[in-house]
This record gives sequence, structure tokens and C-alpha cells, in this order.
Amino acid sequence: MTPLDERRTELADRLDSVLARIGAACARAGRAPEDVTLTVVTKTYPAADVALLASLGVTHVGEARHPEARDKRAAVDHGLVWHFVGALQTNKAAAVASYCDVVESVDRLRLVNALERGAAAHDRRLDVLVQVNLDAAGDSGEIGKRSGVEPDGLSELADAVAATERLRLAGLMAVAPRHADPATAFERLAALHEQLRADHPAARVMSAGMSGDLEQAVQAGATHVRIGRAVLGERPALQ
Ligand SMILES: *Cc1c(COP(=O)(O)O)cnc(C)c1O
Repeated sequence: MTPLDERRTELADRLDSVLARIGAACARAGRAPEDVTLTVVTKTYPAADVALLASLGVTHVGEARHPEARDKRAAVDHGLVWHFVGALQTNKAAAVASYCDVVESVDRLRLVNALERGAAAHDRRLDVLVQVNLDAAGDSGEIGKRSGVEPDGLSELADAVAATERLRLAGLMAVAPRHADPATAFERLAALHEQLRADHPAARVMSAGMSGDLEQAVQAGATHVRIGRAVLGERPALQ
């Protein structure tokens, strides 16, 4: 087998086990597996892996950094849906708006405005998820705090996205806090999602769950899980 064949086999096996985990979690939660979309987070892995994943049937991929995301998007043309899931600087928003389809990490008004301008400049429309910070109050002084809007600022930010011309408010995204039970955090996210949908019924997406906590996320109602390591293997450290 060539190295490429070997990698293809490895990715196929890992992908199968992640799909089996999602299927089992759906069965336990009484949900249909097709109601949960797998986004494979390919940050730090080469474009060749993205192409292999596409050939194995993956349709959604996630990236966390510009320009790495842009370069892979340019190298792999398989009609994939590209999600941006990482912390996004305002001055990179216009560039990201030119090649991503979904921006999951929108957590402040300045970023909404910058994405709207970027989408207009490139004559594109974008799906946007508002990222919510699920750290319990009191953890906020912690080093390495997760990004995301505080829950009490969510509705104002969601309204701002919905008021733009080119950004579609598609739902919410969150990362489980480091030192808390993910099940409890995702239940909280689900409650916030329900409140959001009272005002914005089309905001159907709840993006939650990573390699270590996808079961809890599916149980809580996640419509999208974002999986990196469980499909691709341990990633090289971020520079
Ligand atoms: C890297 C990343 C993931 C995937 O994490 P794994 O633990 O590798 O599954 C999901 N969501 C976000 C926001 C990420 O940055």
C-alpha cells in the first residue's frame, strides 16, 4: 500500500467508529442519526487529508485559523461546506467571509459588522452561529478562558446578526468548559437555544460536542458535532 492508501484506510476506520458513536448516542437519545451532522475539524492537518475525507463521504469540514483555512479551501475543490470554528480577529473577518460558508465563532458586534462588510465586498451570503461562553460565572478570571458571548448578551447579538442583509442567523455554537460536566453545560446550551428559537425559529443549529464529549452533546440535542482528533488522530501542537 502507498502511504496515501494507508492514510485513506486509517481515516476510513476512524470515521466509521465516530459515525458508530454518533449512531449509538442518537439511539440512546431516541434521535435519528441523520439529524446530527458531522463536521470534521481538519485544522493543522494537510489538504490531502481533507481531500481523502471528501472521498470518504465527509461533506462538512471545519477550520480554525486564517490563512491555513484559505489555503486548504483553495487546494481542495470537492463541493465541501467549510465551517470556520476558531477565534476570529476582526481584521481577518472579511477574508474569511470570502471563502467560508459557515462562521461558527461569532461572539461580538464588531465581528458581525466586519463579516457583513466582507460578505458584501465578495457578493456572498454566510451562515452564522453565535458562540456562547458556557463557563460558569466566577471562572471568567481563569487563564485560557474560552471565547463566546456571555449568555445575557446572546439575544442582542443574535438580533444584530438577524438584522444584517448577508448573514443568516443559523443557530448557536459552544465548547464545553474545561472543568465542568459537559452534560450540564450542553443542557444549558439547549435551554439557551430554545429561548433563541422563540425569537428566531429558523436558527435551528446547535453546534456542540467534540471528540471527548460528543455523546453528551447528542443527548442534549446537538444538530452538529465538531470532531477533530477522533477522526484524524492526535494533531501536531499548534504553533
Ligand atoms: C479543534 C476544535 C474542535 C475539534 O476538537 P477535537 O477535540 O479534536 O475533536 C471542535 N471545535 C472547535 C471550536 C475546535 O477548535
